[in-house]
Amino acid sequence: MKNYIKHHPWHIIEEGFDTQVNRVSESIFSIGNGKFGQRANFEEKYSGDTLEGNYVAGVYYPDKTRVGWWKNGYPEYFAKVLNAPNWIGLNITVDDEELDLALCEVSTFNRTLDMQKGLLHRSFTAKMQNGITITADITRFCSLSKSNLGAISYSFTLDKDATVSIESSIDGTIVNADSNYDEKFWIGVNTMATKETALLIAKTKKTDFYVGVTTDTQIVTNGEQLHAENAETSKKYASSTTAFKLKKDTVVGIEKKAIIISSLDYEKENIQTVLETEMASVKHASFETLKANHEFTWAAKWEESDIVIHGDISAQQAIRFNIFQLNCTYTGEDERLNIGPKGFTGEKYGGSTYWDTEAYCLPFYQATADPEVARNLLIYRYKHLDRAIENAGKLGFTDGAALYPMVTMNGEECHNEWEITFEEIHRNGAIAYAIYDYINYTADKKYLAEYGLEVLMGISRFWAQRVNWSENQQKYVMLGVTGPNEFENNVNNNWYTNKLAAWCMDYCRESIAWVEQNYPAEYARILAKTKYNEKEAIKWAEISANMYYPYSEKHQVFLQQDGFLDKELIPVKDLPESQRPIVEHWSWDRILRSCYIKQADTLQGFYFFEDEYTDEEHKRHYDFYEPLTVHESSLSPCVHSILAAKLGDEKRAYEFYLRTARLDLDDYNNDTRDGLHITSMAGTWLSIVKGFAGMRVKNGELTFKPFLPENWDGFSFKIRFNGDVKNVSVTKQGIEIQG
Ligand code: BGC
Repeated sequence: MKNYIKHHPWHIIEEGFDTQVNRVSESIFSIGNGKFGQRANFEEKYSGDTLEGNYVAGVYYPDKTRVGWWKNGYPEYFAKVLNAPNWIGLNITVDDEELDLALCEVSTFNRTLDMQKGLLHRSFTAKMQNGITITADITRFCSLSKSNLGAISYSFTLDKDATVSIESSIDGTIVNADSNYDEKFWIGVNTMATKETALLIAKTKKTDFYVGVTTDTQIVTNGEQLHAENAETSKKYASSTTAFKLKKDTVVGIEKKAIIISSLDYEKENIQTVLETEMASVKHASFETLKANHEFTWAAKWEESDIVIHGDISAQQAIRFNIFQLNCTYTGEDERLNIGPKGFTGEKYGGSTYWDTEAYCLPFYQATADPEVARNLLIYRYKHLDRAIENAGKLGFTDGAALYPMVTMNGEECHNEWEITFEEIHRNGAIAYAIYDYINYTADKKYLAEYGLEVLMGISRFWAQRVNWSENQQKYVMLGVTGPNEFENNVNNNWYTNKLAAWCMDYCRESIAWVEQNYPAEYARILAKTKYNEKEAIKWAEISANMYYPYSEKHQVFLQQDGFLDKELIPVKDLPESQRPIVEHWSWDRILRSCYIKQADTLQGFYFFEDEYTDEEHKRHYDFYEPLTVHESSLSPCVHSILAAKLGDEKRAYEFYLRTARLDLDDYNNDTRDGLHITSMAGTWLSIVKGFAGMRVKNGELTFKPFLPENWDGFSFKIRFNGDVKNVSVTKQGIEIQG
């Protein structure tokens, strides 16, 4: 845990230059606008430890699968969000020495993320090896108001007269650090550079995505506009260089604008023309004007999604950081896009879609953005239904059974570890649950008729084929699965998965009846398309009524899976600190044999289906499972925080909240350098809204059961519900809802 970020309600602040934490900071200070985003790399050259990262939403590469022992059914590739051409480059040379902070004596350094305005600032004073000191001030943003625009304002002075040259570049030679075979994923299509502009079009191998970037760089000093005399291009690089003599203490102001587009939105053959016209539309606008538009849009975002915490600056900063990064990652206008666990902040996880979206992120967007946004997240899966049916087909399922992938970019499965790809099938249930959750929250029941029902049917068909009748138990069982707790593989009858499957089939039957009655034309369309036969629903009802659930009479709890009680049940508190996280210290077989739980599993079921159980049952299960949970997934603490809050354990609810809220800011898991935990950030929001405020939607009404963490004076948040924005405020005096 590093803990060097200064506390401030709206800013994330790093003071002083520490090369050891640079990669962590590059992740933390990442910015994005839903369409593209980037790590907080420096504009000028940096030879120290860095992970360069620019990402364009939806642009991926099918990197050939790499595994030790190939198993039938593995996908051929792992789809990776690509490190895209880097448009921020501003290389500064002073008297023949390239500015490189790794080689300078840096006397002052400040990196600030202004979350309110969506701006990344940096300033420094650095003595170069040639003895010249440079003082610089930089602001950068990925425009939220014009989603193909990025802009930089970079100004500096020197303490001596010198010859300066500034190279403004677009670099397409980048590679993915996580490439399986060190393959280069980009092919240069076209580059151009003139005095002020550079342009680069590159396409991906295999997927043939085109990404086009153009930049316009204006350099002014002493009120005079300077012009580049040198333009350089190669297949994947375009730049222009301006050289001039600079007097000491004279300010140089650079404004660099970039347009970034892809073939997701434009015909390939039009990319260049669009780049040129889009740049022409902003070329004469000042940085300040573009920035003001961007800030205005951020202000509107905050108007809908802010959470204000009184009396605890660290908690305030943390929740805003989580909300900020979620809004940088997904804005919801495009139903082809989704929320990768690392968003635009790193490469790990392939940047694709996981069950995290439905189980954790959906409620955040549902409550803080236009209803279209959550709807688009659901439509994403609807559009992938055929692929999910194909995926299931590859594993031997038939007749329209759908298995959604564990990881995907385009609907096809990309994950390639058998215990997850083939067995972590609870993800299917989360997708069905999200449909229920969305309809419960928005009352948009029409969604069922238009899209949702087909998805529910495909998923129900899968469950019906995945279970088998056990003569021994005289019940339906589900063998060979992995639950959300990935520290158990290939188990029989994971309670959560069985429960989810039975619930799904029931919900699907109910939904069929409802659509038949309320949308007969849609019903007829769905019948014809899916070749649904009423006997299927009869079978689903029979399976659901006769599903097997492992249960301990002694402990009066559902068991995570068959045989769970054979394990040595030693609580986590008795594990030596030196052996944690166990995933880093223990062999895999030891983890599998142990009782330790990575993240909510049985308790995930209690979280989803809370109304089916009494408080007493909740408490019993929480008291049984939480002490065995190591919370080694970032998705774990939030569910526990909500359950603890429900059970009135305010202290624990708050402790869990802290673990999720500052996970990245304080680098709890020592892995922030790889990127941020974007999907678990939605969990932080859930901890406050569903946990501390106890918000639920029951029968179309919002209900609350609030408590105020001891060291807070109050908190308030905005929530969209029934077309209104409501302001919910919890103080020592109680709760107030306006709007
Ligand atoms: C968790 C999964 C999650 C994935 C991506 C894993 O560590 O166990 O539940 O889907 O990370 O966030």
